[in-house]
Amino acid sequence: MQIDVISIFPEYLDPLRHALLGRAIEQGTLQVRVHNLRQWATGVHQAVDSAPCGGGPGMVMKPDVWGPALDDVAQAHGPAAHADVWRSSLPHQRQQRHDQRQGYIPSGYDRPRDCTETEDPSLPLLLVPTPAGIPFTQAQAQTWSTESHIVFACGRYEGIDQRVFSDAQKRYRVREVSIGDYVLIGGEVATLVITEAIVRLIPGVLGNHQSHENDSFSDGLLEGPSFTKPRQWRGLDVPEILFSGNHANIDRWRRDQALLRTMQRRPDLLSTIELSPEDRRCLELGHSPVDDSHQPRG
Ligand code: SAM
Repeated sequence: MQIDVISIFPEYLDPLRHALLGRAIEQGTLQVRVHNLRQWATGVHQAVDSAPCGGGPGMVMKPDVWGPALDDVAQAHGPAAHADVWRSSLPHQRQQRHDQRQGYIPSGYDRPRDCTETEDPSLPLLLVPTPAGIPFTQAQAQTWSTESHIVFACGRYEGIDQRVFSDAQKRYRVREVSIGDYVLIGGEVATLVITEAIVRLIPGVLGNHQSHENDSFSDGLLEGPSFTKPRQWRGLDVPEILFSGNHANIDRWRRDQALLRTMQRRPDLLSTIELSPEDRRCLELGHSPVDDSHQPRG
């Protein structure tokens, strides 16, 4: 996957080179270029913003700067043709990872491309972070993880002149996306969030494909609690069932914990999934039937 980011603060995007994203760069799965928007600014002051038409507070980013920047990035032309391809921040160890050791060949999500009837599916996807966008979800991350070229336009100030996105539809499939109901200072952090969520779903980026298959939202539920050694810590025990060796019961218990947590924290999600009779029983009881810590002892 190729990712291009346009920003007036390119250094803000440095985390794209670290950890798992850095490893994806190193293994050739991910190619990142970050472009400084000011390369397309003209005039003595290289201004990228101007006062809002109709008055009001703040400044709006200029279409005559963003337009040429998006044109060039779509066509790898002008300053965009000379942008550095980012390298990983550190070399990663080359030891075999879980899926390789198991001989598992991960495959990508089998999702239809995010494309309307009037759009050309071969155009790159332009993601525009904005609090006024459609909410970004795990389902979108899954769909977009199969894209070959994604471009991010990072706004600042009061945002980018809306005409930029009407015009960009000639060269991109344009999506305005929000990462939550709050307002950030700029689109860079949202770009990092969206990129991480997408790139970790590209086959081979996570060492163990089951990690994301069991994640929150993948089956419509929040994931339940996780535990590791030591078995007892500061007077708190790991639930006994996890040492039972009965994998059917452990799977059932984990599903029940996911159901109970979802009911408590995100009841809206429960209405979007199909519940089995066992699922319903757990929700009615308010605890997992396979968890004997709820049974009278003695
Ligand atoms: N005036 C805009 C509004 O009320 O919709 C807010 C602009 S905000 C101060 C500046 C930039 O931060 C936006 O252009 C966008 O790139 C980014 N941003 C802020 N909040 C965001 C969110 N919840 N999701 C995605 N991007 C966000």
